[in-house]
Amino acid sequence: MIQVIEEHQALKECLDAYRKKGKTIGFVPTLGALHNGHASLITRAKKSSDIVVCSIFVNPTQFNESSDLAKYPRTFDADKKLLEEYACDVLFFPSVETVYPNGTDDRPDIDLKGLDQVMEGAFRPGHFDGVVQVVKRLLELVEPDHLMMGQKDFQQFTIIQYMIDYYKIPTELIVCPIKREPSGLAMSSRNTRLSKENRDKAVVIYRTLNYVKRRLKKHSVADTIDYAMKRMNIEDFKPEYFSIVDGNTLLAINSMDESDYVVACTAVWAGDIRLIDNKILKKSDSK
Ligand code: AMP
Repeated sequence: MIQVIEEHQALKECLDAYRKKGKTIGFVPTLGALHNGHASLITRAKKSSDIVVCSIFVNPTQFNESSDLAKYPRTFDADKKLLEEYACDVLFFPSVETVYPNGTDDRPDIDLKGLDQVMEGAFRPGHFDGVVQVVKRLLELVEPDHLMMGQKDFQQFTIIQYMIDYYKIPTELIVCPIKREPSGLAMSSRNTRLSKENRDKAVVIYRTLNYVKRRLKKHSVADTIDYAMKRMNIEDFKPEYFSIVDGNTLLAINSMDESDYVVACTAVWAGDIRLIDNKILKKSDSK
């Protein structure tokens, strides 16, 4: 049986008891509405840690539109069931007050060196301030040895790694591969809100990301971005950005020779649902 814990003190007592026995803690922070992408993080956490904690917390400070926050799917019972199936040990389900005892304006003072200004940051101002704030707090509450995050949110894990290094937090970040539907569509809690038609059509995002790697062999980065934006501009869809960036700095590159770690990242509106996806185009073995 999974332990559901809402309060910090109870969580601390529970995890300290494990720590005393020499057990390591793996942590999977989520917004809930869990799917197989989240489950893959739990599975990965079980490989590296003795005890797995998953948090479900719809963090109000990372939503720049209150309607998005209000519409975010909340499926606690199904989430708990999934976590039990995957033998997660602890479900941490805190209130806003537990996460932010000093109020939601209590934000860490960290300069993200522009990592938060591009791509998602450019279109969702303040989003990463909220993400850094909540992950820092959750790491203080859980004190895990390992933190699992998905490559699906490329910019997010890059910023969190920066934050962990900046504050010298003794937690190892493990990045897990993107879990996809059989069609190729990246799994997301938002997919449940897509119409059947748009869900089928959304495979264009994956196909475009895949084709881009081949196209870059013969075409420039600028031409490829132009191509990708046009290809995804189908009925009821609106690509917001398609960026080809250095995987460390997240800055746009002009040519593939400029970096040995290159990633293509995109955000596309499918009706009123915003989808993101990415593909690593080049990565040297040392990274
Ligand atoms: P969320 O609940 O959307 O905040 O996601 C919680 C964690 O699950 C984040 O680290 C995400 O990157 C990760 N995640 C979300 N979707 C996927 C996916 N399709 N494959 C792998 N990880 C994912």
